Amino acid sequence: RPHTMALAAEAKRIAADFEISDADLNKINLEFVQQMKEGLAKNATNMSQIPTFVTAVPNGTEKGLYLAVDLGGTNFRVCSINLHGDTTFDIVQTKVAIPKELMVAKTAKELFSFLAKQIELFLREHHEDHFNAHIRRRQTISTPEGYRDEHIFRLGFTFSFPVHQIGINRGTLMRWTKGFDIADAVGQDVCKLLQDEIDILKLPVRVAALVNDTVGTLMARSYTSPGKTSTLLGAIFGTGTNGAYVERLDKITKPMDGDFDNSTGDMVVNTEWGSFDNSMKVLPSTIYDQILDQDSVNPGIQMFEKRVSGMFLGEILRIVLVQTLKNPAISLFSGFEIASTAPLHAQWGVDSSILSEAEADSSADLSKLREYIKTSLGVSAATVEDALAVKDIAHAIAIRAARLSGIAIGAIILETGRLNPGASAVPAPKSTASIVEDVKSLNLAEAASATVSKLANTAGLAVNEDEIVDVGVDGSLVEFYPKFEEHMREALRNLDGIGAAGERRIRIGIAKDGSGVGAALIALVAAKME
Ligand code: ADP
Repeated sequence: RPHTMALAAEAKRIAADFEISDADLNKINLEFVQQMKEGLAKNATNMSQIPTFVTAVPNGTEKGLYLAVDLGGTNFRVCSINLHGDTTFDIVQTKVAIPKELMVAKTAKELFSFLAKQIELFLREHHEDHFNAHIRRRQTISTPEGYRDEHIFRLGFTFSFPVHQIGINRGTLMRWTKGFDIADAVGQDVCKLLQDEIDILKLPVRVAALVNDTVGTLMARSYTSPGKTSTLLGAIFGTGTNGAYVERLDKITKPMDGDFDNSTGDMVVNTEWGSFDNSMKVLPSTIYDQILDQDSVNPGIQMFEKRVSGMFLGEILRIVLVQTLKNPAISLFSGFEIASTAPLHAQWGVDSSILSEAEADSSADLSKLREYIKTSLGVSAATVEDALAVKDIAHAIAIRAARLSGIAIGAIILETGRLNPGASAVPAPKSTASIVEDVKSLNLAEAASATVSKLANTAGLAVNEDEIVDVGVDGSLVEFYPKFEEHMREALRNLDGIGAAGERRIRIGIAKDGSGVGAALIALVAAKME
């Protein structure tokens, strides 16, 4: 069956297009550090490096009941968080899908009144006592603002789009990403947009802090992380991708509007790394990436994100498959008519979870994946060969995303110099091949010591707590794609200046409910400053 071989070979050829060599990995990493520095010095065209007015990360002793809402991409979450002050917390939350038509509504009001309504529903369901107490007060006091301060919930508003922040609860929207497009919201203060709609509903809620989800992830991880190590970086690999990290204030040399407490000498910076290398100096680019970009609502923007995050990986796969179907010599999904209404033929029709499904199915007949191809691509009766081709290509797309993610984490660690100079002086462990060479050349002492350090590495010998660089991550991709972290770590090991010795000192932990708890923690900090 020659077409089968042609298909397998074509899948391998396409997969190879998505590979990043170790040399390119380092080239991209150097440019990432460079663009971080540019963003700290001026209003740059690539990474925005936005100061967040958050000057410290928590240590786990913070206490109180706070509200948090999260406009992330796919869903709107409303939650209340009770911080116990001992690194633990309770959280109650609801989640609703954002109606597609509101993502591209004519006016910001349509979206924000929907959000305020969800807050009201949440309060009525989960904090009825508090809510009723407030209503009763309002009936006895004549002015709407005449209720007692302690009855007002402080709310942290996690808003995961680029904003120009001018205070801890003020910030104007720079541009939409992730498929949102409401022109009249751009340039407006998103906290005021939300507060106005909350006030129309007369809810006992004050928007106390504007929070980017990555900053929330950083704060939440720092509150809950084990040991005394404070967290350096919070990173998201979900619908979009972004990172926020603790930077030295004196390295932020561009002008900053707004007041803040500068006693710590630090400030959390929201990198907006989704825009890394929009100028396309070093990012890998296949014909499929180019098609995706041209057909997107924001061509030339969020170029890193378009290669890394959940919103785009399924679409890249879809585009590859559609292009491959056009080639008569290959006969992908041979002999079966695919309905024009199938998800395979709909832009954004294919969810990235198919990449995880493809990776997870290692059975001989790929029966689960073939079933998934039926439900998620609308292609019935895919052969084993078809499924294998999908699996190879999906793997290549996901591994490229994980390696690029590793570059981002590595760049933050290198730029901040968190691995002290001594660490990079530790030689990287020798490869097994070079140990064999040492034995052959009777360089036994060298071979023995290299073997010991290799064994120590494999055994993952304990690293001192004070040598750990802590990173919090969140998002479906890192959570559900099999071994995503391992592929990131592999990239980290291959970066000059990190190596295997540095990589072992990096602790990566999932920051669950990051945006909720993190937003609560920032609302707490902000309320103290009122
Ligand atoms: P958000 O970033 O919107 O807050 P998530 O972290 O859940 O929410 O990310 C949702 C994104 O992750 C979607 O783009 C979806 O396609 C993708 N996704 C969901 N499940 C998986 C999975 N199992 N494997 C890979 N990607 C997934």
